[in-house]
Amino acid sequence: MLFRQAGYFALFSFVKNMTGRLIARHAPAQGGGRAPRLRAEITQRRVAAVQRLIPATLIFNLVHVGLFALAVWGAVPSGHFVLWGCATALAVALLLVPWRAYRRGNPSRVEDMERIQRQITLLAGLRALAWGVGAIVFLPQLGPDRQLLVGLIAGGMMCAEVFGFAAFPLATLVYGGVLTLTGSMALLSAGMTAFEIVPLLVFFAYVLVIVRHQAGLFLEETRDAHARDEAQRDVAMSLNDFEANSSDWLWQTDASGRFCAVSPRFSKAAGLDAETLNGMHFSELFAPDAEFFNTVICERVRLREPLSDARASVQVGGVQRYWSISASPQWDRVDGFCGVRGVAQDITGKLLAERRLQQLAHTDQLTGLINRTRFLELLTEAFATRPASEIGIVSLDLTGFKLINDTLGHPVGDALLRDLGARLRAWAGDAFDVARLGGDEFTVLLLDINGPAEVESVAAELLELFDAPFVVGTHSLVIDGSAGAALGGAHGADADALMRNADLALYAAKAEGRGRKRMFEAEMCAGLLRRKQLECALHGAEERGELHLYYQPIFELSTGKVVAYEALLRWTSPELGPVDPEEFISVAEESGLIVPIGDWVLAQAARDAASWPSDIQVCVNVSPVQLRNTTLLSKLVQNLDRYGLLPSRLTLEITEGVLLEAGSHVAGTLHDLLNLGVGIALDDFGTGYSSLSYLRSFPFSKIKIDESFVEGLDSNPANAQIIRAIVDMANALGFDVVAEGVETPMQLAELKALNCKYVQGYLFAPPQSANDLIVLTDRRGKLKASQA
Ligand code: C2E
Ligand code: MG
Ligand code: MG
Repeated sequence: MLFRQAGYFALFSFVKNMTGRLIARHAPAQGGGRAPRLRAEITQRRVAAVQRLIPATLIFNLVHVGLFALAVWGAVPSGHFVLWGCATALAVALLLVPWRAYRRGNPSRVEDMERIQRQITLLAGLRALAWGVGAIVFLPQLGPDRQLLVGLIAGGMMCAEVFGFAAFPLATLVYGGVLTLTGSMALLSAGMTAFEIVPLLVFFAYVLVIVRHQAGLFLEETRDAHARDEAQRDVAMSLNDFEANSSDWLWQTDASGRFCAVSPRFSKAAGLDAETLNGMHFSELFAPDAEFFNTVICERVRLREPLSDARASVQVGGVQRYWSISASPQWDRVDGFCGVRGVAQDITGKLLAERRLQQLAHTDQLTGLINRTRFLELLTEAFATRPASEIGIVSLDLTGFKLINDTLGHPVGDALLRDLGARLRAWAGDAFDVARLGGDEFTVLLLDINGPAEVESVAAELLELFDAPFVVGTHSLVIDGSAGAALGGAHGADADALMRNADLALYAAKAEGRGRKRMFEAEMCAGLLRRKQLECALHGAEERGELHLYYQPIFELSTGKVVAYEALLRWTSPELGPVDPEEFISVAEESGLIVPIGDWVLAQAARDAASWPSDIQVCVNVSPVQLRNTTLLSKLVQNLDRYGLLPSRLTLEITEGVLLEAGSHVAGTLHDLLNLGVGIALDDFGTGYSSLSYLRSFPFSKIKIDESFVEGLDSNPANAQIIRAIVDMANALGFDVVAEGVETPMQLAELKALNCKYVQGYLFAPPQSANDLIVLTDRRGKLKASQA
């Protein structure tokens, strides 16, 4: 009896002590000073974990009631047992109350979860009490065998419930505590000593240790999860903040590449509601596009690579938009790759502006064709991607375009270029790239060509585009082009070389006359490069003081007096030395530089002539290009006025070509000059078209027989006849005749015999500087006796 009382006491104090310590240690998890959110989360997780086991707990408890019935059947009064069985089954069935409450309730409502938690704890105690009462009542009535069976059933029950409710230490403790207490009481009442219940207490102690450990693990896990959630919430909050304050928006995908947690801003930008976007695959929103932006980003996301300001194209409400996307893959310590998170920004405006700029940078604004920069890019790309022999270019240039600009004005010139641009575009279609390189220079890029013949035939086709006149307003302009072609490989190993050589071929074509085409040849390089070099050096030559005038006297044979000096231009370039006028004047004419240079010559000649005796004239050569220029007359008048030179002392020397080309404008200028009193001499007569007809149509003051006829006087009798015919006709028409290039006394004698009135040549005096002329004029320019 004493032992039994000691057993009861020991039992009470042990259970109280152990459970009290355990609860003290873990109670904070159910209340205490933890952050409310953590506490709530622990409750939620705990209830969620336990409620899942309720159906199994229910079934096993009922099975145990059945087993218990088998163990005690026949040994105890059946009425007592049925009563106990029903009460126990009811205590077990009551588990359905928290189970249903959980199912129906809102897991995020802390009050609901706490209520369920209390119910579970209470029911754990109730079940343990039911089993304990059963043991206390029935165990003393059983024999040792059946007691052992009941003990096993109770032990199994305890183990199952303790482990099943491990996440819920209070319920486990209540259950274990009540069952240990009642079980011990049952054992004591069944006649066992306090010593004999020690194994049960040891078992309970061990259960407590396990519960403590399990509860600790559960808490740790919950705290970790909570910390993770908190961190995510913080990130989400700062990201929301970021979204609210910037034009960017955030997006993220899960590990399978589907968008998740779609923000309102993202859904607005994509023009899709959040429900549609959530779960949509990345590659579905960024479907393959023409520019391959999306192909690139989808591949990188698939390979879990980061994106930095990558471009993406999106259809938003049927409208093409462009986004800039930056993103990085997200990795979790536990789960590994867990998706991609990034920011996006609409850059449609910026991109379109960029493209517009790029287009402007690549387009010739006048014709809409591509410009030099773009053409060079395309040509360079062609050399990088295909055999050089498949590449060709044809360069085009208009004949006399400068004249149109100068005479009809720039708007007409521009309209002509636009018209030609349109013809070239229509001809090229999608097959060729055509560029305007600048001025009146156009170039066509030919790819996949098959040898030089094909390039030449394209050049011929291009020249045919000039067949129809260009109609600009009231003007119908008939204009020719020249074409220069070059073939990759043979005529240039890279873009620059090919362009340069096509240019040289074009120069050669232009030198041959109007409407000609030439394929590049190696020999063109030297001559044409020299012309280019001259053209470069000639720019600004006048300002740099590199130009001078020499004068060559023209003598009257009957008196032997100097009647005029012909101004002959000289150029000494610092780099190239003295350059032959025949060479640099044609370059100046081609480049248009002859206009400013010619103005300078006129001014200089007028100034020099003003200091000579008044009966000596000055002859100035003018080029056809100058005559076509509308400003010639006014500049000439200005210079005469400025230096006080009478117009009658000036003679302009023109060549026959001018008369052939003479449009109404040139003829008008010539007549204006004549009206002014300026003399017009026909230079180099006999070398051009040798047509005597226009001699009748124009009142020349002089004709100058070309030196080639004079030169042949000694050797070729036909020359004497030609000169005689010219002199006779000139006399009949009232023109003076000057023989140029007289070098020998024999030529002089012949010319005298042929009644030629004036002579000029090395025999009398070479061209010399204005200073040297002083000597000559002082001597009144008399021919030496020996020569006369
Ligand atoms: P041009 O007007 O027929 O000038 C006569 C050329 O014959 C000059 O050549 C002169 O030096 C050269 N000459 C003079 N006497 C003799 C001679 O006895 N024998 C030979 N073989 N030649 C002689 P230059 O000075 O070399 O000028 C060549 C051409 O350049 C000129 O031919 C003229 O058409 C042109 N030129 C010269 N100065 C000017 C200019 O200021 N403006 C323009 N537009 N053309 C000019
Ligand atoms: Mg001359
Ligand atoms: Mg001449």
